Amino acid sequence: MPPSRANAATILSDPGATPVSSLPGVGPALAETLARLGLERVQDLWFHLPLRYEDRTRVTPIADLRPGERAQVVGVIDAVERGFRYRPQLKVAISDDSHQTLVLRFFHFNRNQSEQLKPGTRLLCYGEVRQAAQGLEMVHPQYQRLSGDEPATVDDLLTPVYPTTEGLGQKRLAGVIAKALALLPPDAQLELIPAELCVEHGLASLREALLYVHRPPPDAHLGQLTTGHHPSQQRLAFEELLTQHLSLKRMRAAVRRRHAPRLTGTGELRARLLASLPFGLTGAQQRVSEEIARDIAEPSPMLRLVQGDVGSGKTIVAALAALAAVESGQQVALMAPTELLAEQHLNHFRHWLTPLGIEVAWLAGKVAGKARQQALQRVASGAHVVIGTHALMQEGVSFSQLGLVIVDEQHRFGVQQRLSLRDKGADHESGLVPHQLVLTATPIPRTLAMSAYADLDVSAIDELPPGRTPVQTIAISNARRFDVIERIHVACLEGRQAYWVCTLIEESEQLRAQAAEVAHAELSAALSDCRIGLVHGRMKPKEKQAVMNAFKAGELSVLVATTVIEVGVDVPNASLMVIENSERLGLAQLHQLRGRVGRGAIASNCVLLYQPPLGQLARERLQVMRDTNDGFRIAEKDLELRGPGEVLGTRQTGQLSFRIADLARDAHLLPAVQVVGARLLAQHPRQAELLITRWIGAAARYAHA
Ligand code: ADP
Ligand code: MG
Repeated sequence: MPPSRANAATILSDPGATPVSSLPGVGPALAETLARLGLERVQDLWFHLPLRYEDRTRVTPIADLRPGERAQVVGVIDAVERGFRYRPQLKVAISDDSHQTLVLRFFHFNRNQSEQLKPGTRLLCYGEVRQAAQGLEMVHPQYQRLSGDEPATVDDLLTPVYPTTEGLGQKRLAGVIAKALALLPPDAQLELIPAELCVEHGLASLREALLYVHRPPPDAHLGQLTTGHHPSQQRLAFEELLTQHLSLKRMRAAVRRRHAPRLTGTGELRARLLASLPFGLTGAQQRVSEEIARDIAEPSPMLRLVQGDVGSGKTIVAALAALAAVESGQQVALMAPTELLAEQHLNHFRHWLTPLGIEVAWLAGKVAGKARQQALQRVASGAHVVIGTHALMQEGVSFSQLGLVIVDEQHRFGVQQRLSLRDKGADHESGLVPHQLVLTATPIPRTLAMSAYADLDVSAIDELPPGRTPVQTIAISNARRFDVIERIHVACLEGRQAYWVCTLIEESEQLRAQAAEVAHAELSAALSDCRIGLVHGRMKPKEKQAVMNAFKAGELSVLVATTVIEVGVDVPNASLMVIENSERLGLAQLHQLRGRVGRGAIASNCVLLYQPPLGQLARERLQVMRDTNDGFRIAEKDLELRGPGEVLGTRQTGQLSFRIADLARDAHLLPAVQVVGARLLAQHPRQAELLITRWIGAAARYAHA
C-alpha cells in the first residue's frame, strides 16, 4: 500500500496518535525541529497551548500608548540616528497623526535594515512599549514597511504566541498547529474524561476550549485571556491539573506495589531515647511518630511527608523513626540539602544515639580520600545511620540493608530527586525498597500539597513545644542602621546573643561571603567590647562548625552569617536577629531565617532592615512578617504574592511547569480535581493512562521509575 494511503487510514481512525510528519508540508527537517519541542504526534500540537496573545487587530495612536503594554503602531520615520555608546545601535524616531514621537531602538541590525529605515518611510510596528529617559520607545519591535499610501492591514483575530525553539518562527508553528486542528475530532472521540464526570463537574466541551484558545474570535476579551480566566482556559487548566494529579498518584501506586522491610522493632531503643531526653514529646510529635510507626510496620513502602513549622521538633521525630529501623536490623540514610544542616543533624543524632550504642556515619560531598573510603566501607558493612548531603546518594555508595530514607527540607529537592533516591535504595536481590520519610519546614498550603505532593501522605506537627515566646518583628529602614547596631550592643551587654544575617541574592557565594566580611568588620569596630563571629558558605566545614560551636557555647555575642544559617541551626539562647536587605527575600525564606530565634523561653526580636524606597510587594511582605509567626499563614500569603514555583522552590529546577494551569490562580479547581481523579483511577484507569500520555507525553516515563 502506498504510504499516503496508510497515513490517510490512521488519520481517520485516530488522528491524534498520527505522527506530525503525516501533516501536509511537514517534512523530516520540520518534524525534527518539532520533536525538540516534544511535538511528535498530532495531538501534541493540539495541546501545545499559547503562552500569551498579541493584539494586532487595531492600531494604537502613539499618544495613547502606555508603558508596559504591547501595541501596534503606524508611523512615519522622522529621524534616524546611529549610535555607538556601548555597542552599536540604531534609533529610529517615528510619529503619527496623534503628533507624538516613538523611538524604535535596535541593537542588532544589518546594513540592509539600516538602509531601508530612511526618513519618510511608513512603518507598521508591533512591540512592547517602554518608558525611556527621553520618552516612549520600543526595543526590537517587529515591523513591516508600508509603501506610499498603502493602508495597514490589521488582523481580525488575536495572535497566539506559542512556546517555540530556535529555527521555528511563530508563523510557521501556528501554520502547523492549524493543520493539526483541522483534524480535531468531535468531542465524542476527543474527550477522555467520561461523560458522566463531565456533567457532574460542569466541564464544557474540550474541542471548543481548544479551538478557542488557539484561535480566539474577533470579540475575545484580551484582558481575560491574558490572565487565564477565560472559561476555555479554565477548562484546559482543570484537565492539566487532573493529569498532573493522576501521574503523581500513579507514581505512588507503582512504588506502593513494591515491597519494603517491615520495621516493627522492639521499641526498646526508642524507649531509652525518650527516657534520656530533657523534655517530653508534644501531642503532635507523638501523633506523627505513631503514624510513621504504623506505616513502616507494613510491608509496602511508606511515602510520608511530615510538615512542621520551624522549631516544631521534627528532628526527634525523625530520630525515633530511625531507631525503629535500627531495632529491626535495618540501616537508615538521612539526607539534607546543605552541608551545614547535615552537620547539625549529625550532631543531634550522635548526641542522642551514640549513648545507645548506635553508629552514626558521616558522608558528605567534602568527605574525600581515605576518610571517604572508610565511610563508604562502614556504610556497605552496615553502619546503622548514615547522614550526609545528597552526595550521600551519589555513585559508589551502597548500603547493606537500607530500610528507611529520611529527606530533610524536601522543598529543595524535586520530584525527580525523590524518585532517584528511591531507586538508589532499592535492593536488587531482595526486591525490597526502603520506606521514605520527607521532612519539610516550609508549611505547604493545603491546596498546593494536594497537587504537588499527591504521591505522599501528609502528617503535620501542628504544635510548638511549650514555653516558646513568639518573636516580635519590626521593619526598620537602613537609614537607622546605627540605632539597630546600638540596640544589639545593649542586648549583648545584657548577655543576649544575636544573629546578623547578610543577604545577597542571585550573586555568587564569593560575593555573599564578602558582604558578610564587610558587615563583620563594621560590627567588630562598632561593638569593640563584644565578640563577633562570622560564618559563610566559603568556609571549610570544620571552620564553620568551630564558629557555630563557639556561638552555641556563648563565647560569641554576635554571629554574622550569610543565609547558610537558614535551615536547621539551633542555638536556643540567641534571641535577636537582624536581617539585612530583607525586602529582597521571599516570605518563606524570611520565615525560615526568623525561625532561628524564639527557640528558648526568652522573648525574641527580629529586625528586618530594608533599603528604602520600598515597592508595593516588598511592603506587603514585610507587613505579613510583622503580623504573624504562623508558618501556614505565611505560606498561603507567599503563594498569593509570588506563585507556586517560588513557594515550592521549583522554579530553578523547572519542575511543576504547567502549560496553562497556574496553581495560585487555579487552586479553586483542586478539590474537584481530586474527586474526578479518584473516580478515574478507580473506574476508568485506561482513560487516566491516556490523559497522562496526552498531556505529559514523554515526561510520563518518570512514572515508571
Ligand atoms: P525543626 O522542626 O525546626 O527541625 P528541631 O527538631 O530542630 O525543630 O527542634 C527545635 C528545638 O526544639 C530543638 O532544640 C529541640 O531539641 C527542641 N524540642 C523538640 N521537641 C521538643 C519538645 N517536645 N519539648 C521541648 N523542646 C523540644
Ligand atoms: Mg530541622
